[in-house]
Amino acid sequence: MLFLWSKLRNIRYRRQKIDNETVQTIINGVKLFLVTGDITTQDTDAIVNAANSSLMGGGGVDGAIHWAGGPAILEECREIVARQGRLPAGQAVITGGGSLKSRFVIHTVGPVWHGGSKGEAEVLAGSYGESLKLAAANNLGSVSFPSISTGAYGYPVDEAARVALNAVASFLKREPSSLKEVVFVLHDPVAFQAYAAYLKELIEIR
Ligand code: ADP
Repeated sequence: MLFLWSKLRNIRYRRQKIDNETVQTIINGVKLFLVTGDITTQDTDAIVNAANSSLMGGGGVDGAIHWAGGPAILEECREIVARQGRLPAGQAVITGGGSLKSRFVIHTVGPVWHGGSKGEAEVLAGSYGESLKLAAANNLGSVSFPSISTGAYGYPVDEAARVALNAVASFLKREPSSLKEVVFVLHDPVAFQAYAAYLKELIEIR
């Protein structure tokens, strides 16, 4: 009991400390950092959309991006689906940013959480890796990610944070590219804490 209490106190202490720090690192010359907020207001070259396979918009961050970016994004999504069909989970496509500050939107489909033994982590890592590949292929300098799959798709946020940050870090380590900045825009404090805790672990490991 005493042990449990002191563990909880430590976790609380760690969480309070994270609030007062800028959580960021540099990997291979690329700045990787976390902010809380609304991804639709970011001015990075691209923002990433946690879309669904239909690419026809939906709730959560997908709805917010289409709402803020206007109908031009949906029109391009329609053309993509007409050309290549629905977008499988783990893959990504790029459209213009419509009336967003970002010039581009990269649409990727994360996995639906089915308990963790159905390849969810590989698919989620694929979403991040394929999005970064597209950003680099289009010579972009900066890209913002939301926390893919942790809303309607039900992926536990602590586990998603590990997969997301590992996938981004390993892409940046592996591939020199046009990228100079990768931002995670976390919509709520719980997601921010989860990503901050794991990014700090990563920084200490490195
Ligand atoms: P998914 O279907 O991939 O789970 P959701 O949009 O339901 O996608 O949720 C993914 C994450 O995006 C959630 O953590 C949610 O809090 C977050 N989110 C929702 N709106 C925004 C926004 N405007 N900016 C950034 N993140 C957002």
